[in-house]
Amino acid sequence: MKINKNKQQKLYNLLDSAIDIHSYTAGKMKNPNCDNNKCLSKTGEIRVLPTGGSSNAILCQACFAYEIQYRRERNQSLETRNRFKIPQWNNLEIYDAK
Ligand SMILES: [Zn+2]
Repeated sequence: MKINKNKQQKLYNLLDSAIDIHSYTAGKMKNPNCDNNKCLSKTGEIRVLPTGGSSNAILCQACFAYEIQYRRERNQSLETRNRFKIPQWNNLEIYDAK
């Protein structure tokens, strides 16, 4: 089998830049108090999102929005009784990380 070196190198370069972008945003934009990694800022308010039972997720507003978007999409394929709750950011308890 003939390997196309040029094509292979282009693919490696593409993967490298994707990894660079990820580590850039992961390093620069992670709120250290947030449980998720979709943060758009290192600082800012974090709130408590109940995740069922007695567990919670501590999320910044960007990660909360991401989670709600995910829940809305999942709910479309779930029966009413199994659907995720869609709480409002303003109704969630503010988490004091200090
Ligand atoms: Zn976050």
